Amino acid sequence: MSERIFNFSAGPAILPEAVLLEAQRDLVALPGVGMSVLEISHRSKTFEAILAGTEADLRTLGGVPANYKVLFLQGGASLQFSMVPLNLLTPGATADYIVTGGWSQKAVKEAQRVGTVHIAGSTEGENFARIPRQDELQLTPDAAYVHVTTNNTLFGTEWASEPAVGAVPLVADTSSDMFSRPIEVSKYGLIYAGAQKNLGPSGVTLVIVRDDLLARSSKSLHTMLNYAVHAENGSMYNTPPCFGIYLMGLVMKWALAEGGLAAISAANDRKAAALYAEIDRTGFYRGTAATDSRSRMNITFRLPSEALEATFAKESTAAGLDGLKGHRSVGGMRASIYNAFPEAGVTALVDFMREFERKNG
Ligand SMILES: *Cc1c(COP(=O)(O)O)cnc(C)c1O
Repeated sequence: MSERIFNFSAGPAILPEAVLLEAQRDLVALPGVGMSVLEISHRSKTFEAILAGTEADLRTLGGVPANYKVLFLQGGASLQFSMVPLNLLTPGATADYIVTGGWSQKAVKEAQRVGTVHIAGSTEGENFARIPRQDELQLTPDAAYVHVTTNNTLFGTEWASEPAVGAVPLVADTSSDMFSRPIEVSKYGLIYAGAQKNLGPSGVTLVIVRDDLLARSSKSLHTMLNYAVHAENGSMYNTPPCFGIYLMGLVMKWALAEGGLAAISAANDRKAAALYAEIDRTGFYRGTAATDSRSRMNITFRLPSEALEATFAKESTAAGLDGLKGHRSVGGMRASIYNAFPEAGVTALVDFMREFERKNG
């Protein structure tokens, strides 16, 4: 597939080529069905099998324990910023939020509309260049939950491991590093992720929620905002995002065939290490995240001047390396190298960086 260029987009992002080819082949008519997945009833046996298969493969891939529900919702991770507090922040309780970037800030904003929010940690004063240390966190005993953003897509930082929160349920926005490494689901009360970075296309949002937390969803909530309703109905209270679920199913199968999360994690580590090694090689490039907080998914770096950054963006695009311009809150460049991003693309970027430095350094 030589027409495909190297896609460093932060999201929606690259999907495995094998998945795209399979979806293309079966788009007009699913084998043995004679209709497209886009055209069939979500109540049909065919779609029920697709939904069940996606969930089963996702549970296998992530080792999701039986006492967790897997939900396929809509509205993106951004709707979860509201649904989490609407369902879990019970009257009179406090929710702790650890603020590590722009997405955490947006989550806080919605939670504050619902109830009492305590900022249990923040690195905003350092432009979110690092993840807070455990000893900096000021956790509320008996909080309704603690919310973290596991990977900060804009700032290129990532939690190396979960913060210790005791018995309080940990709620995580894992949109940009879900299934990039093994995940111990039992450490979390609720995990959510917009699909369009590591899991599938935009339009479907994954929620994994521990059974006991569903009891917190008040009956007075609007039906579509109620986790318990979605859980009771197996994500089929209304028409689910059928195509997104189908495609996520293909991505789950791809990930299993790659060797599962251990193998995917090892590949992600290799890709990130190669890029950071190049960033650190001479001082021409400068990583923006603190070394111990570096993301393996979104690699942010700057050049000696904004003029060189503009040239880098232009010339890399021309060289078939697309989407490297960084987010405006950090500036510089950002290479998003999610699960589906090939190692050959990292090699191509490293080669390009070296040549660029030789010409401009
Ligand atoms: C992209 C992203 C979001 C926003 O996701 P939507 O599905 O567009 O709402 C939220 N959180 C993180 C960490 C993200 O990377």
